[in-house]
Amino acid sequence: MKEYSTFVTHLECSFTGKTYPADQLHGLSEAGKPLLVRYDLDALGKAIKKTDLVERAPEFWRYREFLPIRKSENVVRLGELMTPILPAKKLQSELSCGEILMKDEGRLPTGSFKARGLAIAVAMAKELGVTSMAMPTNGNAGAALAAYCSRAGIETFVICPEDTPRVNIEEIAFQGAKTFLANGFINDCGKVVGDGKEAMDWFDTSTLKEPYRIEGKKTMGLELAEQMGWQVPDVIIYPTGGGTGLIGMWKAFNELEAIGWIGSKRPRMVAVQAEGCAPIVKAFEEGKRHAELWQDAATIAAGIRVPAAVGDFLILDAVRESDGFAVAVSDEAIDEATRSALKKREYFCVPRELLPWQH
Ligand SMILES: *Cc1c(COP(=O)(O)O)cnc(C)c1O
Repeated sequence: MKEYSTFVTHLECSFTGKTYPADQLHGLSEAGKPLLVRYDLDALGKAIKKTDLVERAPEFWRYREFLPIRKSENVVRLGELMTPILPAKKLQSELSCGEILMKDEGRLPTGSFKARGLAIAVAMAKELGVTSMAMPTNGNAGAALAAYCSRAGIETFVICPEDTPRVNIEEIAFQGAKTFLANGFINDCGKVVGDGKEAMDWFDTSTLKEPYRIEGKKTMGLELAEQMGWQVPDVIIYPTGGGTGLIGMWKAFNELEAIGWIGSKRPRMVAVQAEGCAPIVKAFEEGKRHAELWQDAATIAAGIRVPAAVGDFLILDAVRESDGFAVAVSDEAIDEATRSALKKREYFCVPRELLPWQH
């Protein structure tokens, strides 16, 4: 098994800057904020060249030097791939605007970019000797956690809000998690996971409550920059729930600039939320650095129904520093956009003999 040099020096509280040792199991910092992984970027920059990547498999593990996993035996693979960037030509001409590209993250194992974060979180958990992981989820994160844990031989507990889409619940159970439906929202389920830590001896894998999912989501930014020839787009529009992806991409661009692979240009980061659950948008509009708990969250976009995000200030900082913005869209607009992107049609249940071409 090929080993790679690793460059993690320590972890750092994203709020206070207090440092924590690497190679130990961590949750939130003492200040109750997410921990960020820090690297010796000088050494990293000397150890790898852009051209080294060309020879590596087209998967996010190609960025191993940028990732915290020390030993290759802890890498957990389920057929990851570099996701394609698809031009949205029709939409572009309808809007008569500049180039619109979509990064099709649905191609990843379990069908969402949650695979990036959880592949790295599970690999790190394996490396640090964790045998049981738990998380609250609106669906996609739970499926990815269950799949990677099953592959790694780690027991998984997943708690979903009871109105999580059935298809997601089934998927999580099929992927091998002990799956529970609970009344309340994802943050209520998160409390269940937190409360159960001692009795159940599981590792709390809630969004941003462990340091490594951000590192996984960071690969979205690394991959995007590589695919664009080490350029960044002018604007990134990101559906924002807990915000791991936005925070991760932002971290990727900062690390890439530090090693001289990209310049100081940053995309304007745009956080999109649903009108029925838009705590980040509200905080953005009010000029605040922290968001309030959103009451009675409701939207058809289950993946972004997150009433409270631990990393709110990290999302808002990136949005503001990049001269981006946060915007809420209605469920009607989400539905219309989904239908036009997918050409979604109604379907019909009919007795065979009544099909019009049968008589
Ligand atoms: C989780 C999820 C999001 C939000 O991602 P975060 O990085 O957690 O903000 C958006 N869309 C889908 C489909 C998701 O599953």
